[in-house]
Amino acid sequence: MVRELNDNVLREIAEPVKEITNEIKNLLNDMEETLEKQNGIGLAAPQIGISLRIIIVKYENKTYKIINPEIFFTSGIQIFSEGCLSLPKENGLVRRAEKIRIKGYDENGKAIKINTQKFLAQIFQHEIDHLDGILFTDKIIK
Ligand code: ZN
Repeated sequence: MVRELNDNVLREIAEPVKEITNEIKNLLNDMEETLEKQNGIGLAAPQIGISLRIIIVKYENKTYKIINPEIFFTSGIQIFSEGCLSLPKENGLVRRAEKIRIKGYDENGKAIKINTQKFLAQIFQHEIDHLDGILFTDKIIK
C-alpha cells in the first residue's frame, strides 16, 4: 500500500542501506510490484512505509533500481509538471536541474553511475527528495 500525505514516514530522513540482504532484494521486488500496480513511474521506499534509501524508476521500458542514490553533479534548470503516488490529488510545476549525475548501487551491490537529463532527471530528483522527507508540493512554483 502506498503511504499518503499525512503519514510521518514520508517526512523522515531515510537511512542508508548498509548491506544488500535478501530482505532488501524482497523490498525491491515489492516496490516494483507496487509501482506496476499503480501504473507509476517512480517510487521511493518511504512511500511503502520503509525508511531506507532505495528508489525505483520505470521509464521508457527501462527499470532503474538504485540503492543509496546520490546526486553528485547538476546543471541547468528545467520545469516540469509533477505528480506523486503519495499525493494522488496534487500536481504542479516544479523547477529542478536539467542534467544530473547519480551514483549508487544496484541490487547486486555493484557501484553504478547514471547520467541523465530532461524528464528522467526530473523523476530521479523527485524520488531522491523522498529519501530526505521532501515532497514535490514543497517545491511547487505554480
Ligand atoms: Zn513522489
